[in-house]
Amino acid sequence: MEKTYESNFISNIIDEDLKRGKYQEVITRFPPEPNGYLHIGHIRAITLDFEMAKRYNGKTNLRFDDTNPTKEDIEFVKGIKADIKWLGYEWDNLYWASNYFTEMYNRAVLLIKKGLAFVDDQTAEEISATRGTLTQPGIESPYRTRSTEENLALFEAMKKRKFPEGAKVLRAKIDMASPNINLRDPVIYRISYTPHHNTGDKWCIYPMYDFAHPLSDAIEGITHSLCSLEFEDHRPLYDWFVRECEMEKIPTQIEFGRLSISNTIISKRNLRKLVEDKLVDGWDDPRLATLQGLRRRGYTKRALKEFVFDTSISKTNAVVDYQQLEHYIREDLKLTSPRTMAVIRPLKVVITNYPEGQVEYLEEAINKEVPEMGTRKIAFSREIYIEQDDFMENPLPKYYRLYPGNEVRLANAYFIKCNDVIKDEDGNIIEIHVTYDIETKSGTGFNKRKVKGTIHWVDAKHNLPCEIRLYDHLTIEDEETKNLPVLEKLNPHSLKILHGYISNSLVIKPDDKYQFMRHGYFVADTKDTKADNIVFNRIVPLKSSFKLINDF
Ligand code: ATP
Ligand code: MG
Repeated sequence: MEKTYESNFISNIIDEDLKRGKYQEVITRFPPEPNGYLHIGHIRAITLDFEMAKRYNGKTNLRFDDTNPTKEDIEFVKGIKADIKWLGYEWDNLYWASNYFTEMYNRAVLLIKKGLAFVDDQTAEEISATRGTLTQPGIESPYRTRSTEENLALFEAMKKRKFPEGAKVLRAKIDMASPNINLRDPVIYRISYTPHHNTGDKWCIYPMYDFAHPLSDAIEGITHSLCSLEFEDHRPLYDWFVRECEMEKIPTQIEFGRLSISNTIISKRNLRKLVEDKLVDGWDDPRLATLQGLRRRGYTKRALKEFVFDTSISKTNAVVDYQQLEHYIREDLKLTSPRTMAVIRPLKVVITNYPEGQVEYLEEAINKEVPEMGTRKIAFSREIYIEQDDFMENPLPKYYRLYPGNEVRLANAYFIKCNDVIKDEDGNIIEIHVTYDIETKSGTGFNKRKVKGTIHWVDAKHNLPCEIRLYDHLTIEDEETKNLPVLEKLNPHSLKILHGYISNSLVIKPDDKYQFMRHGYFVADTKDTKADNIVFNRIVPLKSSFKLINDF
């Protein structure tokens, strides 16, 4: 069975609501504002909305909150839809908050008629300056006592484009002395002449989120409106609007803690800045915790969803260590991805006693832990590449890899012994010369000798060159950066590009995932991999590491 959330405080509330007959069914909605791409935090909101509905055979709507008229939304709308589908969810209905503009307008008129809303001529600054503080009540607007007739006429005139932007707003008339600042006569409509992507210039007054959201939920018959914790203080207002606007169906808002992960940036505003300032390679940069970025990095939906299902749902915001997330992708790929050898910092090795021109094909297990995955044949000849750090001319104590006079095992191949180091005029090592022992062929069982080191390699002629991108955390979180704004915490070494090799027996397609022996899990980049240019992103190293920067 597919994994999902364990019972949590939200499912307990829903259980109770159904038992008491408050609702007969469960309808949820995911209400993104299309002003950016989805990030890992949104996976919590999406999975809660869809999984909770699924648990009760209910329905989930996707509703775009398009109460802010802006132009470039369509790119984000497409991206958000694609991301939700990629996570494996299908919404029952697709709606837009703008579908309800007429209904919302009528309900605002109802509030005016009930003496519960008024047109205010104060500027945005004046309104905010008279809102009061947590310890001080707000000051009532001088326009608060306008008559119902005057308010109706003015609201109508606002709608008929009679006033410039900012000249007037409609405010709910609740309580300027309320301890909850959200109830201090909140603005519910404002004027904007920016054309709307959906309604064009039909409207020049737009409802504020706090008004539009409860009404949209009620219109759609949402039973449980799940949202993140910052809306908790807005709930009394949410309930006030539903009640005073005399909505027939009454939704219940339930808040849960936000999910974030360490060492990255997830607020859309900051993500947007990173993208616009070209500090990253777009919204799908593999260093970002956007869904697009995580996907391009090689994260699977299974790993992401299981990670989110296992984080506990509570009434506190949680910052989960990035390493937790890494654990889930390793677990997913361990038994599903093929393995192979890749050399990412090549050092040429010449096997001087291997016949020139000879090539043999050795067997490599596709995944040692899953024998059913079988084996593949990889070429071996006189010249190979090994990793630069698998050789030391002057070995440190306990260094068991290759050094002059020492013998190591080449994985899937033979023992080699280093005899000679060839350098250029400046003393840089260009290649090393070794001899191999034909009696030590891997898998033959003839060999009784033991060596301490096993290293990986790729044939120097029969290979595929590839670009290797290694990633480190996007932001540095330590004592020094503790109090800095997030955009000043950027790790200057979050990307390192190397050029290496894999066997040419592999056929690489974008999004193919491999475990490279000793290096970790890699994915063929979906954007930059072409037939003649293979690019691999490291998804995650094999072992977790606390280290920043030096991890390379
Ligand atoms: P951000 O503040 O990161 O830019 P947002 O809250 O403005 O995000 P919306 O498009 O309004 O993003 O979010 C849609 C839904 O996702 C909302 O119900 C919101 O509560 C929820 N959500 C957003 N971020 C998180 C998060 N980090 N954890 C859990 N839920 C989240
Ligand atoms: Mg928002």
